Formats: sequence, structure tokens, C-alpha cells
Amino acid sequence: MYQGTLYIVSAPSGAGKSSLISRLLETTPNYAVKVSVSHTTREKRPNEKNGIHYHYVSEQEFETLIKQNDFLEYAKVFGNYYGTSHNWITEQLSKGIDVFLDIDWQGARQIKEKVPDVKTIFIAPPSKEELERRLIARAQDSDETIQKRMLEASSEISHIFEYDYVIINDDFEIALMDLKAIIRAEKLKKNKQVQKNENLINSLIKK
Ligand code: 5GP
Repeated sequence: MYQGTLYIVSAPSGAGKSSLISRLLETTPNYAVKVSVSHTTREKRPNEKNGIHYHYVSEQEFETLIKQNDFLEYAKVFGNYYGTSHNWITEQLSKGIDVFLDIDWQGARQIKEKVPDVKTIFIAPPSKEELERRLIARAQDSDETIQKRMLEASSEISHIFEYDYVIINDDFEIALMDLKAIIRAEKLKKNKQVQKNENLINSLIKK
């Protein structure tokens, strides 16, 4: 059976990860690509919706899910729990759908141990100055928070060497093309092509 590919996308806040993933979803049919919705204990932001951006749960509910073995990975990020449930992902992959996980480097490490053929992508800003400019332009955080996010960005980026692919998000449209190029190239890998075109390949080989 043709299996979808599991992708992890990590980036510091301000690198444009969420916008890239949203545009990828808007421009790709949803029988081809989906994004997993994580559970989190962090407060819902005003523009967010339960079940769409995250499943918002209490610490107690999160701990119950950990005990029930619901998570493929979970981590504490900036003081809140975040976790990826595995049932939904397995189901989508088995239907041949590619699944994207928007998670941090800690989650990426845990999943690489459990799913060796996961493909990991890191999205980086084109410079520190541009990252700071984007964080300020969002006008959503105080100066103090922006400085904190800049420090967090340096530590997230220090894990860039652990990823398979790196996209530098300078020009958004080019970064989107890069992301789509990765997905396309992965689909053309021999193992995927043989899975998908088994009958054709057998008939072509037959003398
Ligand atoms: P935010 O609270 O800004 O939505 O996300 C904060 C960070 O948590 C981001 O780096 C995001 O990628 C990461 N994150 C979101 N969901 C998960 C998850 O399920 N697992 C892990 N390990 N990290 C996550």
C-alpha cells in the first residue's frame, strides 16, 4: 500500500512557518496533505480556534493523555505542554496522505527515534535583523517579549544541524516553492514510486 510521508517543520517564531504551512494547505488538495492539530495546555490566543489551531486542554487532561500513551511525542515548550497524538497520523499516512507536524526540535528528536523515515525541515529567517523586524511588525508583543523571542530563536536555530532540509525564508514565494519542491522530490524517491506504480513497473520489466 502507498504510504504518505510524515514531515516535521520547525522554526523560530517569526520565521514564517505558520504562513508557509497555511499557504501550502490552501494551494494543495486536502486528499494530498494535512497538518496534525496538537494538544496544548497553553492559553488560547484571541484569533485561535479550538480543534483548528490546537486542542486546548488542562494540565490534568494532558497528563491523562500521556498516561494513556496517546502521544507520539510531547514536550514542554516555554512552560506549556504540547503533544502530537499518533492515531490520526497513522490513519492519514495509511491513506497515502502526507502529514505535516509543526513542532519544535525536542519533538523532532523523539519522532526521529520512533519513525526513522520521517523527513525534517527547518525554516530559518534570512538574518537576525529581519527576524527582529518581523517580530516587531507583528505588533503583538512588548519589547521585553521580543528580546526573549530573539534569545529563544537562537537556541531553536542551534538545532538546525539535526534536520534533513533547510529553507531560508527571505522571499515568501520562493520559500513556498522550496517547500513544495521537497514534497515533490520525496514523492519521486524510488521506494515511493515503486509502491505507487507497482503494476506499471512490473509490466514494463516483463519480457
Ligand atoms: P505556539 O504556542 O507559538 O503555537 O508554539 C510554540 C512552539 O511549540 C512552536 O515552536 C511549535 O512548533 C511548538 N509545538 C506546537 N505543537 C507542538 C507539539 O505537538 N509538540 C512539540 N514538541 N512542539 C510543538
